[in-house]
Amino acid sequence: MSTGSGSGEFCPRCGDAVERPPDVDLPGAADHAVLCDDCYFEEFDLVDAPERIEVRVCSRCGAVHRGNRWVDVDARDYTDVAVEETADRLGVHVDAAGVEWGVEPEQVDPNTIRMHCAFTGIVRETPVSEEATVPVYVARQTCDRCGRIAGDYYAAIVQLRASDRTPTPAETDRAVDIAESYVADREATGDRDAFITETTRTDDGLDLKLSTTQIGQGVAKRVVEELGGSVSEAPTLVTEDEDGDEVYRVTFTVRLPPYTPGDVVDLDDSDGPVLVTSARGNLKGRRLATGDRYEADFEAGIDPDARKIGERDDAEPTTLVAVTDDHAVQVLDPETYESVTVPRPDYLDSDAEEVPVLKHRNGLHVLPEE
Ligand SMILES: [Zn+2]
Ligand SMILES: [Zn+2]
Repeated sequence: MSTGSGSGEFCPRCGDAVERPPDVDLPGAADHAVLCDDCYFEEFDLVDAPERIEVRVCSRCGAVHRGNRWVDVDARDYTDVAVEETADRLGVHVDAAGVEWGVEPEQVDPNTIRMHCAFTGIVRETPVSEEATVPVYVARQTCDRCGRIAGDYYAAIVQLRASDRTPTPAETDRAVDIAESYVADREATGDRDAFITETTRTDDGLDLKLSTTQIGQGVAKRVVEELGGSVSEAPTLVTEDEDGDEVYRVTFTVRLPPYTPGDVVDLDDSDGPVLVTSARGNLKGRRLATGDRYEADFEAGIDPDARKIGERDDAEPTTLVAVTDDHAVQVLDPETYESVTVPRPDYLDSDAEEVPVLKHRNGLHVLPEE
């Protein structure tokens, strides 16, 4: 015990005089009588550690149960999770300054990790240290989301279809990408109700089973924004829940436009075939005879009276033989190798040696370069 030098205060526990340096505010001394250092340290605990910690972890997705809900954590393995939970649950004395700690996890068995923790800090200008060992039990469970996915739960179906054709593999792939990235974005904002239950490619296109009607609607909307077409929705009564409320599942049918960019269509007018460049809003493209822009009027929208006569992928490079005049060139027919006169669209480069041409049932046309 120290002998006070007349600060006028005494330790309330042992009665020793307490020296309080005038310019130092002793921790714990703010509002009450000050213990002397000996008495203070006798009951001082740097660390308040629980006897054991139990962590509920979803064995499917790695989510951790905290409070009363499951949260996704960015942990590589259970040891990471255990360290984080331990850090959350250990309390350090408020009087301590400059606290540092380290932890050595010891895997005891597959579900138990013993945490050896060592702390250092400064209290009353005195370095202090303490060790604590806390066993962390990892309880492997299934979170509510994974339980629902495993139970094949879904509340919405998005069907991808197309008018007068089946969706192309590229469209189907893109729709899957759109759905996956939309759901991933929702997950990233902490929405644990966003998931895809099932992705099925069918002869007609694509069926996606999704967790909520809101997700179904969001996916359908984004697919149409990007690939064109329209959405219709139809609710189906599935069952009644335990409260007697009716439970609906909603089917969102995305109907893609009949033509896709790259299609060459004959519009049955006198201006010749059109290479489709966009099917969003209404059909847009370029006339192959002149290079003029084509856009269907509002009424025709994406589905004007037309038939497909080929596509850009069918085009073959061929020799540009001669430029006849402003409206005509001669090219080699890629099948017969005879020189033929064809219309000269404004996109044709008259200096080119080769140009892409499409031979179709109504003739031969030069396509724009990609
Ligand atoms: Zn004392
Ligand atoms: Zn899970």
